[in-house]
Amino acid sequence: MKIKSVNPYTEEINWTYDALSFGDCEDQIENSRAAFSGWGSLSVEERTTYISRAAEVLRQNRQVYAEIITKEMGKPIRQSLAEIEKCAWLCDYYAENAVEFLKDEVVETEAEKSYVTFEPLGIILGIMPWNFPFWQVFRFAVPALTAGNVCLLKHASNVPGSALEIEKIFTEAGLPGDVFKTLLIDSKVAMEIIDEELVDGVSLTGSVGAGSQIGELAGRMIKPLVLELGGSDPFIVLEDADIDRAAQVAVKSRFLNAGQSCIAAKRFIVIEDVVVDFVEAFELHIQELKIGDPMDEETDIGPVAKKEFVDILEKLLKDAKKKKSEPYIYGEKPEKGFFFMPTLIPVASTDMKVCNVEVFGPIAPVIMAKDEDEAVKIANSTEFGLGAEVWSADLERAERLAKKIRSGFVTINGMVKSDPRMPFGGIKKSGVGRELSYYGLKAFVNIKTIVVN
Ligand code: NDP
Repeated sequence: MKIKSVNPYTEEINWTYDALSFGDCEDQIENSRAAFSGWGSLSVEERTTYISRAAEVLRQNRQVYAEIITKEMGKPIRQSLAEIEKCAWLCDYYAENAVEFLKDEVVETEAEKSYVTFEPLGIILGIMPWNFPFWQVFRFAVPALTAGNVCLLKHASNVPGSALEIEKIFTEAGLPGDVFKTLLIDSKVAMEIIDEELVDGVSLTGSVGAGSQIGELAGRMIKPLVLELGGSDPFIVLEDADIDRAAQVAVKSRFLNAGQSCIAAKRFIVIEDVVVDFVEAFELHIQELKIGDPMDEETDIGPVAKKEFVDILEKLLKDAKKKKSEPYIYGEKPEKGFFFMPTLIPVASTDMKVCNVEVFGPIAPVIMAKDEDEAVKIANSTEFGLGAEVWSADLERAERLAKKIRSGFVTINGMVKSDPRMPFGGIKKSGVGRELSYYGLKAFVNIKTIVVN
């Protein structure tokens, strides 16, 4: 089988690789197992030196990596560069804090001495998506490696170039061979690897469908698991909000990465008194977006990552039209490339698919709510619970509301953004477990109790 990378802007093939079979992977996994005995016994201080070097490598070659991202999945180059910077920041963060986070925790009991110690588990398999092809991998791998695990990466099939380049970054940073390894495999082989008990933990970022299949298998094999799945984040605008500021951030939050982000704002829930003002301001700012060649530094919106995503988005729009909405579509579609133009649905209703499924593309439905309670009810009405945004001049009121929203993350008067210092993850169908921060570092460790009497 071939793994093929296609440029979503030029529609040309970037590069093609032969996929590995399960048999090809077995030797590699044995090498990873051997690498674990060395890497897992280093001190945290020693491991973080390598992680610091990975940050240096990222910064030195940021342009090269950013161009690979843009070529493989169509993200505007400015955003690809920012993604690389963020990976370097993540490395810095764990390099600076991991020793403190992983130190033994003494617990006073009636015993002579009792404490908790954190030990690595072994080989962790990361199954990662294409939407932030470097960030998603670093977010999983850096804490796992810092804690002393070794990592295997099964990246999305449309970004093999990113997958191989990431392996090179860790090699250049001096990590011993086989501590981080990319396997160019399809999802069937990834499932076989889990099923044959070759790994000690699994981390997936991707769709609910993939999460459910991988979660079922990992559950059967009793493997620790982190699932970072989709979202349909509500963006609530109360009547006392700064409407123009909210609209500006709404554009960024919905249209960044052509709308292909799990924590993009996906439903705009606006109190009826201000809905007209909000739509007007939203529209104005959408019109400022520059659509086109993602390699151009001026571009805000490029193509979506795969051709089939255009069809999926068109079907969602068709459903919204059938349910009596009149969408506004902005800009002129470039002649080539997998483009879906920014679309605003000014009067959306909760029975539309765009208000229920995870819409991975630039469609923004605005739903009117009569008051705060109704806004919360709508916000909580999907199967997801990843992020949410609340806009209000009254911070106490906004915080009260934040606590009523069923999600893993709420931002008041700002955009939901992952941050290495803060835990990240969802509830309901948005996932299981947490990444980043102190909590993410503990996702793949043996939290071991030692009691001395
Ligand atoms: P998928 O969930 O199918 O893919 C994500 C990763 O999981 C890829 O590496 C994929 O490999 C792998 N994968 C998928 N199914 C399995 C399986 N059964 N066993 C092992 N690995 C598996 O996402 P898509 O790229 O197909 O995108 C579809 C939709 O998923 C999007 O429109 C969006 O709604 C959602 N999505 C959400 C993301 C998020 O960040 N929350 C990220 C990406 C997608 P392969 O590429 O080889 O199939």
